[in-house]
Amino acid sequence: MIRYYNKLILSLSEIEGHPSLLIHGLTGCMFHCFKCFNYEELIEKKHESYYTIKDLLNYIVKQQDLFEYILFSGGEFMLAPIEDLIEDLTKIKADVDKKIIIYTTGIALDKMKTLTDLNLVDGYHIDMKLPYHLLSSDDKDLIEMTMGIKVKDLTLINQLIDSIKFVVKNDQGLSQIRSVKYPFLDESAFMECKSFINSLNDLYNKNITYEAHTFIYPEGDKEEG
Ligand code: SF4
Repeated sequence: MIRYYNKLILSLSEIEGHPSLLIHGLTGCMFHCFKCFNYEELIEKKHESYYTIKDLLNYIVKQQDLFEYILFSGGEFMLAPIEDLIEDLTKIKADVDKKIIIYTTGIALDKMKTLTDLNLVDGYHIDMKLPYHLLSSDDKDLIEMTMGIKVKDLTLINQLIDSIKFVVKNDQGLSQIRSVKYPFLDESAFMECKSFINSLNDLYNKNITYEAHTFIYPEGDKEEG
């Protein structure tokens, strides 16, 4: 059973021009990215009170005129078991005619493929944390600083690249690749990401958007510089 954060957010800004309902799964995360502002509240904290899919459906059905899209985020929502993802998304699709978008790092390509094949997801927004395609085994420190994990080799990074390729190739107009402009990265890193996504767009004849978002320091953290 997937546990959901019991604060649902109606947002006009998550997807420009499309009012959206943002839902966070209490599904943990395998990364610990630089100053992640969700970490304490959504990943570390033990939530005694949470929503189930039944609570979500009650809200979604009652308030469905207020939003067009349903967005799932985390932590990493795709860490939920595939059976639970299928069950919950099937129930939502059966009850309301809304587009479903999942925010993800791209860590679970097989699950992404399954949900796409079942028509349970209309788009993925992948957080491309570094110009993965340019990384070498000399960049382990950079990976650790950015994503908070130690890697032995580039296996994980290559998996994330495969997920990005899958998302671009299968985009039906609602997917997106984006980055956060971590303050220790040069602007050229994001230009490289954009150029990589453009090359995939050319390869797959798609027009997926790439966006680099301003880094926001968590509340209470002093901004450097
Ligand atoms: S993947 Fe997202 S939720 Fe997980 S640590 Fe990084 S920024 Fe935070």
